[in-house]
Amino acid sequence: MDYISTRGSAPALGFEDVTLAGLASDGGLYVPRVWPMLSADEIAGLAGASYVETAITVMRPFVVGALDDAALRDLCTQAYGRFNHDAVTPLVQLDSQNWLLELFHGPTLAFKDVALQLLGLLFERFLTNRDTHLTVVGATSGDTGSAAIDALAGRAKVDVFMLHPAGRVSDVQRRQMTTVLSPNIYNIAVEGSFDHAQAIVKAMFADPETTSRVTMSAVNSINWARLMAQVVYYFYAAVRLGAPDRKVAFAVPTGNFGDVFAGYVASRMGLPIERLIVATNVNDILHRALSTGDYSCGLVTPTATPSMDIQVSSNFERLLFDLSGRDGLALAGMMRGFEQSKAMTIPENMLNGARGLFASARIDGDDMASAMRWAHDRAGQLLDPHTSVGLAAARKAGIASDVPIVTLATAHPAKFRDAVERATGFRPAMPARLGGLFDREERFDTLPATLEAVRAYVLERSK
Ligand SMILES: *Cc1c(COP(=O)(O)O)cnc(C)c1O
Repeated sequence: MDYISTRGSAPALGFEDVTLAGLASDGGLYVPRVWPMLSADEIAGLAGASYVETAITVMRPFVVGALDDAALRDLCTQAYGRFNHDAVTPLVQLDSQNWLLELFHGPTLAFKDVALQLLGLLFERFLTNRDTHLTVVGATSGDTGSAAIDALAGRAKVDVFMLHPAGRVSDVQRRQMTTVLSPNIYNIAVEGSFDHAQAIVKAMFADPETTSRVTMSAVNSINWARLMAQVVYYFYAAVRLGAPDRKVAFAVPTGNFGDVFAGYVASRMGLPIERLIVATNVNDILHRALSTGDYSCGLVTPTATPSMDIQVSSNFERLLFDLSGRDGLALAGMMRGFEQSKAMTIPENMLNGARGLFASARIDGDDMASAMRWAHDRAGQLLDPHTSVGLAAARKAGIASDVPIVTLATAHPAKFRDAVERATGFRPAMPARLGGLFDREERFDTLPATLEAVRAYVLERSK
């Protein structure tokens, strides 16, 4: 399998190089040259398969040439062995139609672990035989940072510089990052929003002064390997609910469009998906884009769901690439226009390609809180605010009552204790995994939200 850029001019790369590279040199994102298909029989054959066996079947076509089955099994066994649940990502029933897929049983209690635990191991394996030192520069609205730091702390040949928006991540999220004192981990609080932090990271990838001095790599969901790892749980959940003979809908709390794009990939691979419900908070650019074609940025409004407080969703470009008929050069023109004016209208003929599969909803703080209370009253489940946004969207999507809807539960409620307590009156218990978090020493530096400041910091410290 080789990978091509959504902007049509960067060289095609194999899986190993795509994993280490992150962003393409033309500013685009890498996608597989073709979407591999699993037949209905192959999907039916996943019934009863473990998470690791499912992962091997789903990821095999994406890694051919780089990893054989034995290597893939070894990496997945290590990565998912660190999860605190035998099912890795268990399904929990809420009522006759609604299910949760709990993706938060990994080391940092958010779904980012599913992809990043594997990515950390892929980095180590691919770097072992290379004379390369990687400088990972990432921006996080909270959960990516801690999951990447957990996956990469102490690994040889990698330094991690993680930017988070100062004061805009929860105290648990911040401490999960800043209390990891490994010498290869650098936490930077940027005086700005997540979008500022992400723009700085993007600018560094395009900045010759940086790229001529260090080998940069990405752990944000612009990294293809992350999305690939997330495709697995769509198959795993759908098969448990009757796929391929029965269609399933998924409601996905969405920020950077990575998680829901993985659902799109599952659908392209042949998984019968009724609908992918894109759930946004009041930062609703994706809802506007999918419902009316209005892809224009406003200002970011801070909410109780910080991992969704975003205006520019990087991975949306991957969907636009397919909707454009995979015309990379045309898309490059569109994206350059968007980057200048911060707005574009998605043509109707492109949108039509998305309408059969995608639905979307904008969920405000009241809708979020009432969905959280419903899950608690109805099923005795305490949900985190992001998951609650997904559930609220699931409940108003108008999906036929015989189609199961799986809401992706993207974080453990204990990561957002204050918001959960405000909505339900119940304060989630701290899981043992987070024990001592508030007693440990924190280490981070605060920088202005400029390319110059961050670049100087990174170049001074990376090996
Ligand atoms: C990252 C994150 C999201 C958003 O996922 P994307 O892949 O960026 O769309 C939603 N909820 C939680 C808890 C997250 O950590």
